[in-house]
Amino acid sequence: MNGLSFVTPTAGGPWETYLAQVDRVLPYLGRLSRWAETLRRPKRALIVDIPVEMDDGRIVHFEGYRVQHNLSRGPGKGGVRFHPDVTLEEVMALSAWMTVKNAAVNLPYGGAKGGIRVDPKLLSHKELEKITRRYTSEIGLIIGPDKDIPAPDVNTNAQIMAWIMDTYSMNVGATATGVVTGKPIELGGSLGRLKATGRGVFVVGREVARHLNIPIRGARVAVQGFGNVGSAAAELFVNNGAKIVAVQDHGGTVYNPNGLDLAVLMETVQRDGSIAQCAGAERIENERFWDIETDFLVPAALEGQLNAERAQRVKTRVVLEGANGPTLPSADDVLNERGILVVPDVIANAGGVTVSYFEWVQDIARFFWSEDEINMRLEQIMADALRKIWDTAAQHKISLRTAAYVVACSRILSAREERGLYP
Ligand code: NAD
Repeated sequence: MNGLSFVTPTAGGPWETYLAQVDRVLPYLGRLSRWAETLRRPKRALIVDIPVEMDDGRIVHFEGYRVQHNLSRGPGKGGVRFHPDVTLEEVMALSAWMTVKNAAVNLPYGGAKGGIRVDPKLLSHKELEKITRRYTSEIGLIIGPDKDIPAPDVNTNAQIMAWIMDTYSMNVGATATGVVTGKPIELGGSLGRLKATGRGVFVVGREVARHLNIPIRGARVAVQGFGNVGSAAAELFVNNGAKIVAVQDHGGTVYNPNGLDLAVLMETVQRDGSIAQCAGAERIENERFWDIETDFLVPAALEGQLNAERAQRVKTRVVLEGANGPTLPSADDVLNERGILVVPDVIANAGGVTVSYFEWVQDIARFFWSEDEINMRLEQIMADALRKIWDTAAQHKISLRTAAYVVACSRILSAREERGLYP
């Protein structure tokens, strides 16, 4: 009864963090808390050996994982990460967070995640393809359009998803586009997927703004990270009349209290790979980013960026978590005390998995939607999810993060209870 399953949690590690989050939710689950142990144990974890013949003739073995944390509400869903620091414990935590995210947004999925312990930067294109195909074949036992549907995560992309789709299809003897999402458009990928996470960040921000009576027109926004998520969110804020007053990326921080020119920011990133030399902006010290006065602060880069010290300094009304895990628990407490609203990652950045869900639905139906239809449905799902979490937070007088977990865990455990235990 202690969450000790598959691994001994590392102190301060991701699985321990997840278990602590579960503990926080238990008091709000009522009779369903009887089933809570199911949240503390991944349903299934597969560890696979991936032998690959490298370009120079060496045979090198890599270790891969696929964890299905919970399948009570539907097939597993979650990305595949290629990184030298990937561990079973990390994949377990990431899969559990997918269970929560999918349930928080009410997608008909359980949670899963996969990974290979490898630095893809050290691989040739051919080696990357071989390692992806062998990994897919090894986890082919437990994935499939009705079982578990992988997607891109850190260091994996549409090409890798195409290889996963092709390998799985070869093994089952039929083209199975629905086995993976984030595919190229020509192979059953979905329109709108690329900007979906950023769009979701904006939609959730706009809904929160409505509740707090913050007009989007003229709102000041600071964005950390100007990649896939940050740039798409920034673009929508600007298109709706807000001002991006500061942007920070790995190369530096730029500031303009009258609003940065988005087209110039985009061109600068295209040219230099960073916004640091953006014209028409003041270049400021990175640490000053956290002191800028804003209505929305959007961390959309890395985890752990908002620590307790920065949380004491930020001058914003809403923290919109575009990244996964950008706010440390200690910072959460400080922000809460200071009356700054934190919109948690499990809802704020769920736009990506929501359009992944649309991709899977379109693949199964073999009928594809227009981009307008996708964006309209995305807005509806995100706004509904936020409303439910907002009401739960108000009802129990708890943070949006805890409320998102209460909503999600109640759905997961209700499904578990209704299905009953087999045998
Ligand atoms: P990306 O690689 O496209 O962009 C990352 C951005 O972060 C870049 O602008 C980079 O310069 C910046 N950055 C890196 N190191 C930094 C540092 N030390 N300080 C400031 N900025 C730094 O990545 P992305 O896809 O936009 O993902 C960003 C975050 O959103 C990640 O936490 C990711 O897990 C999360 N997320 C992404 C998606 C998605 O669909 N892409 C979905 C859900 C969550």
